[in-house]
Amino acid sequence: MSANRGHDEQQRPGKTGRMKTSTKRTVVFVVVFVLVGVGLAFSTGTGTLSAIGVGQIAAICPLGALEAMFGAWAFLPRALLLFAGIALVAIVFGKAFCGWVCPVPHFQRFFTTKKAKAAEHDERVQAAKKSIVAWREGCEERTKPALDSRHAVLGATLLSAAVFGFPVFCLICPVGLTFATFILMWRFVQFNEPTIGLLVFPAILIVEFVVLRRWCHKICPLGALLSLLARGNKTFRPTVDRSLCLRCDGVACETCASVCPEHIDPYADAGERSMVECTKCKTCAQACPVSAIRFPLRPAAMRDASSQNRGEATLEKSDAASSENASRPY
Ligand code: SF4
Ligand code: SF4
Repeated sequence: MSANRGHDEQQRPGKTGRMKTSTKRTVVFVVVFVLVGVGLAFSTGTGTLSAIGVGQIAAICPLGALEAMFGAWAFLPRALLLFAGIALVAIVFGKAFCGWVCPVPHFQRFFTTKKAKAAEHDERVQAAKKSIVAWREGCEERTKPALDSRHAVLGATLLSAAVFGFPVFCLICPVGLTFATFILMWRFVQFNEPTIGLLVFPAILIVEFVVLRRWCHKICPLGALLSLLARGNKTFRPTVDRSLCLRCDGVACETCASVCPEHIDPYADAGERSMVECTKCKTCAQACPVSAIRFPLRPAAMRDASSQNRGEATLEKSDAASSENASRPY
């Protein structure tokens, strides 16, 4: 089946010279890390990603807020308010924190061997192939996102906080440990304060980055919580312009699905994992050969517009075909 529709001319508009999305994410992460680092080093009291802010304007890790309430067996108004604030951010931006700010994917890259990279690539391609099969069978959208092992870890995290009266998971949380390691290193350099944490914290982090490579997909309770909150996310979702997408011409293009680190298929949300897991990393948009993926504020409006464009294009084609037939001598 033809896949042109002007695609050749439309391929990769403006892609050359643009900063890669992975570079943008690294820049954002480094800026956040440096800001937090400066705050810690100069004791400005702005905190870390686990609890960050100035005075009354602050954000707390939503998992930490829940753990605090489960640990205290009480509704803590301040924790509840901060949790509501983060929930609102998750509803607007989904799991963007995981792709742009969380240190795990960034640091994990330093510990990725060629073999691990190849295995991750194979997993993505397999997930994309499954999604293409589902698409061929007519599946355009999954019925509902599934729960997985991370949600079980989330349940265990809250239960342990309630049983022991303190946030047990925070002891091994990679976000907290990253900044705790930074603080200890700073204190060691500045005040010559060696502590056992200087060995223990990085050791736990290395286990999480190297041995538990599927941390984000299989274990992370914060990711699980954000994916629950992100079920309400309708904005800035990857949305395929169907008037451009090759699959609308019947081409089994799996480029976007096979690069998605979350194993999502942006075209049909029929991938191995649901759209609520999207971290807005934009890798799919960068890879799409016809730049058909956008992140609009109102995806529904864009979908309607692209279906209309597509309908008009089809109508034009059929009008052209009818007049061609009409002018044919019989
Ligand atoms: S769907 Fe696109 S933006 Fe979302 S996680 Fe996958 S590659 Fe990133
Ligand atoms: S990469 Fe995805 S959005 Fe782009 S043409 Fe292929 S299926 Fe369509």
